[in-house]
Amino acid sequence: MPLMRSWVASANDAGCDFPLNNLPYGVFSTDPQDARCGVAIGDQVLDLAAVEAAGLIALSDAPVFDLPYWNDVMDLGPEAWAALRALLKDMLKEASPDQAQLAPFLVPLSEVRLHLPFVVSEFTDFYASRHHATNVGTMFRGAENALPPNWLHMPIGYNGRASTVVISGTQVRRPCGQIKPPEADAPRFAPTEKLDIELELGAVVGVSSPMGTRLSVAEAEAMIFGYVLLNDWSARDIQAWEYQPLGPFQAKAFATSISPWIVTAEALAPFRAAAPDPDVPLLPHLQAPGPLLYDIDLSVLMAPEGGAAEVIARTNYAELTYGAAQQLAHHATSGCAMNAGDLLGSGTISGAAPDARGSLLELTWNGTEPLTLKDGTERRFVEDGDMLTLTGHAAGDGYRVGFGACAGQILPALEP
Ligand code: CA
Repeated sequence: MPLMRSWVASANDAGCDFPLNNLPYGVFSTDPQDARCGVAIGDQVLDLAAVEAAGLIALSDAPVFDLPYWNDVMDLGPEAWAALRALLKDMLKEASPDQAQLAPFLVPLSEVRLHLPFVVSEFTDFYASRHHATNVGTMFRGAENALPPNWLHMPIGYNGRASTVVISGTQVRRPCGQIKPPEADAPRFAPTEKLDIELELGAVVGVSSPMGTRLSVAEAEAMIFGYVLLNDWSARDIQAWEYQPLGPFQAKAFATSISPWIVTAEALAPFRAAAPDPDVPLLPHLQAPGPLLYDIDLSVLMAPEGGAAEVIARTNYAELTYGAAQQLAHHATSGCAMNAGDLLGSGTISGAAPDARGSLLELTWNGTEPLTLKDGTERRFVEDGDMLTLTGHAAGDGYRVGFGACAGQILPALEP
């Protein structure tokens, strides 16, 4: 698919994250009391609350954009989502007769504050990258027990915390917790010394399913509203002590950062990619009816406090084994109710190459092979003051569908 040209000139630049092909959804404010829905186009955000108030868009009898979340639009369902996109593309395309009416509702991105784009109903995190699962399993349990036997048959996950999902730019405090190195006789309570990131994509569920209902993978795919970048901050020393037998708890409960713009499944459709064939055939209820992944280039950047950001890892969403639709279908196999606003973390995305690993745990091999930054300092894990940024985009012919950035800076721990 070629670039779709817009009368918003900056949207036609080849390096722009937000061309007309993308139209990602966010929540913005110019006055903190008045956060509302908008769509990014070029270096602008179109104020959809104002467009709706002017009578140029009417998705529902009640206003759905003069709200600080997209959940009410999700509730209208996939037909309304498609109608909204068709209308926005028509109004924002080059030579659209709507230009004169819409132009006053554009606000420069440089002048807005961005907020969480939806109310996160619940957060579930998965473990869908074979390279990541193998690397972590090797470090935590040894090479012979690296990949758990269930991993080949289903997308492994755990229920995380929606309460600490935060928008890009939010500072994250280094957590304290119980730490017990293997050589110690007893645990101590202390700030984590192994603060880490996890490079993930988050799928936003847009349609609810009632308790007692199972979902096919195809049904699940149609329920996905869009995707955000997701950094599942982790404390590896706390995790290593607490995770058996019920999985991660405080090691991952302190913060999860997401990017401000929901990139829709429709915008990503031209970039579909298939997962590798599974080692063993999946049971019928998890088999993919078609390609479920997308070709999305992903990067991790690190900047020491006051220093320049540099890329420390680069990988691709298509490295995963399970897609979000399989994860959502698996989530509902028992009859678990799913809700619009549920956030499903893909799991850390790692490729085969050493610099394609989506966590510092893997990049530095649990701190034994430190990275050297351009300022000469070494990193085994994240230090206080460091800024970690995830970026991602799918590359089209002369344009890109970008996610923007998912950034967070680490504050020192409170007194233990
Ligand atoms: Ca994770």
